[in-house]
Amino acid sequence: MAKKKRALITGITGQDGSYLTEFLLDKGYEVAGLVRRTITNDLGNSKHLKDEILVYYGDLQAPESIALAIYDFKPDEIYNLAAQSSPMASFKDKLGTMAITGTGAVHVFDRAKDIVPNAKIYQASTSEMFGAPPCVPQNEETPLSPANPYAAAKLYAHQMAKISRVDKNDPQFIACGILFNHESPRRGINFVTRKITAAVACIKNGKTEGIPLNEWGEPIVQNGKLKLGYLGSKRDWGYSPDYVQAMWLMLQQDKPDDFIVATGEVHTVEDFCREAFAEVGLDYKDYVVTDPSFIPPVETGPLCGDYSKAKKVLGWKPKTTFTELVKIMVHSDLAKFS
Ligand code: NAP
Repeated sequence: MAKKKRALITGITGQDGSYLTEFLLDKGYEVAGLVRRTITNDLGNSKHLKDEILVYYGDLQAPESIALAIYDFKPDEIYNLAAQSSPMASFKDKLGTMAITGTGAVHVFDRAKDIVPNAKIYQASTSEMFGAPPCVPQNEETPLSPANPYAAAKLYAHQMAKISRVDKNDPQFIACGILFNHESPRRGINFVTRKITAAVACIKNGKTEGIPLNEWGEPIVQNGKLKLGYLGSKRDWGYSPDYVQAMWLMLQQDKPDDFIVATGEVHTVEDFCREAFAEVGLDYKDYVVTDPSFIPPVETGPLCGDYSKAKKVLGWKPKTTFTELVKIMVHSDLAKFS
């Protein structure tokens, strides 16, 4: 019987890590995850998969823990999804974000090079690296000019991946997915889309206790209102389960490359609010208020991706529309916050 392929995922407890694990298990892979140990031993979004995966406790800031996981598991593919992934939080912890999201990624590349030099690596790059781009839509050739510490750390990792890829003596297979925003019911509560759908559910269900907390530790709904930042922010929002397929496809190629993964459609935060509240028969204007403390010091966007290279080379395209995405998230939160 053919040996099963092995994939090691950093960030397996996160949104994408959990969907990617389901996708790879379905394809017959053996999957392991690098997990930060907590007193609850919580596997986050991958809790339901605990009996199907192998867990290595570790941290991207502790290179020896990455080395031990790679040495023991000997992966054929490594998906580096772990990151301090919040642009807003990165302004409050610039160096911590760099240590995990930037330098941490290079620890993964280097430990893999030492132990499994033929392993194929996926690096989770981001559309945030475009900053305030000079053109719409953005493609793989659009200049990168990050506007927040998170994106600057991601750019460092992205560039280091490209350098390792073209090293004349010892090239590594590191593919970079420049993914535009992608969401799901498993999105962290402090990201704007999930904050909106959770608030819609709490308001619609008349919930007064157990309301999730925002990044400043306050309930997301207070006195019947949801506080948000700039409603005019323009983003290209896709569905996470569609996007993890593109990650895998990048590692099935003969050569490593960069690929934009996006929907090609742009919507504002206000559009998202309108559709999410309308899904339960409410008007967002009665509930949403703006608060400057949620506006980042430097604004990114408009972000809108041209995924034609991924379509041509990988045969990938998004399956879920913006309206379907909003519905999926609202209905999941209606059940969760009832
Ligand atoms: P996420 O839900 O925030 O997950 C981040 C993961 O990183 C979690 O599993 C977290 O573990 C782990 N992590 C954080 N710090 C770590 C450390 N020091 N050592 C080891 N693990 C650590 O992110 P996501 O939405 O799934 O995104 C996956 C990746 O794609 C991230 O790198 C993100 O920056 C990037 N990306 C995301 C988007 C998007 O729209 N979602 C777009 C472009 C790129 P804990 O459970 O311990 O916190």
